[in-house]
Amino acid sequence: MKVAVFSTKPYDRQFLETANDAVQDCCHQLSFFEARLDVATAPLAAGFPVVCVFVNDNLDAPTLKILAEQGTRLIALRCTGFNNVDRQAVRDLGLKVVRVTAYSPYSVAEFALGMILSLNRKIHRAYNRTREGNFALDGLLGFDLHGRTIGVIGTGKIGLIFANLMTAFGCQVLGYDPYPNPEFTKNPLCRYVPLAELFAQADVISLHCPLSPETRYIINAQAIEKMKPGVILINTSRGALIDTGAVIVGLKSQTIGALGLDVYEQEAELFFEDLSNEIIQDDTFERLLTFPNVLVTGHQAFFTEDALGDIAATTIANITNFATNQPLTNQVS
Ligand code: NAD
Repeated sequence: MKVAVFSTKPYDRQFLETANDAVQDCCHQLSFFEARLDVATAPLAAGFPVVCVFVNDNLDAPTLKILAEQGTRLIALRCTGFNNVDRQAVRDLGLKVVRVTAYSPYSVAEFALGMILSLNRKIHRAYNRTREGNFALDGLLGFDLHGRTIGVIGTGKIGLIFANLMTAFGCQVLGYDPYPNPEFTKNPLCRYVPLAELFAQADVISLHCPLSPETRYIINAQAIEKMKPGVILINTSRGALIDTGAVIVGLKSQTIGALGLDVYEQEAELFFEDLSNEIIQDDTFERLLTFPNVLVTGHQAFFTEDALGDIAATTIANITNFATNQPLTNQVS
């Protein structure tokens, strides 16, 4: 099957080719494009029955229409979230969309934990200081995580692992999830609470829910007002879970004591590219980078060998199922 792979980086190519070579009797023809998929780049996929994309490719109705008219029948997402897909347009055009429903959830859970440790103990600042010959400790004071309360919003695959990691530090974990996970409450240090109670009690809040109309701006000015002063807020899920303007106000008033972001609402214009020679035009993003207690990474929480191997293997298996008329178990409905 001919597959047009968009938003390709060298590591995508390496892991996809390895997974493709491992498929017996059914190797796909992978064509790699560096371009991000959108209306302007969709013509590159002409004649490809399968288009393979990532988190910041734009699968809006006009792009999908071009793909369908050019003969594409399957969109294979190399990610879990599908908030970048216009599902109504997919249905109207008779396309199919498959995704990677699960890949190493440890990758993201461990990264969220790393952000907490860095921000709390100011490791990101100490790294720069010592390189400048500054060994002073002023400004680097943290607190023991042991005995603290952690709030987890979304207790699915990643949130559950994150919660269990935090209990290993001796933390209490408060979860909020409209669809409770029975595995979560098997841990005696984890319990579900209403969202307002989580906001009021937690010393650290980590977001592990998908982006949906219900969760968009789940962290807004009203939510921040309810939080403990000095709370550490971590977002490794999707940028638009957070109203960035409200969070900047919260940082200025010091209600938010530290912020770790691996995702950002407008990240499609920034992340996964080397912009070090450019003038970044996003003033909100630039303001975030001025705070000493803000750590921003460019959507790298998933970026482990294990996760990339899982993503590539599932993506190729999804395409093989389509090519051989097998049931599409990972189809986005
Ligand atoms: P999952 O589907 O296993 O779990 C999501 C959980 O969120 C579920 O338990 C669900 O019930 C819950 N949820 C749904 N609506 C909610 C709401 N309104 N409030 C609170 N919880 C709600 O997903 P997962 O594999 O754990 O992934 C979680 C998110 O992490 C993904 O949606 C994706 O956005 C993000 N992610 C980020 C990266 C990265 O590299 N930064 C990588 C993978 C996934």
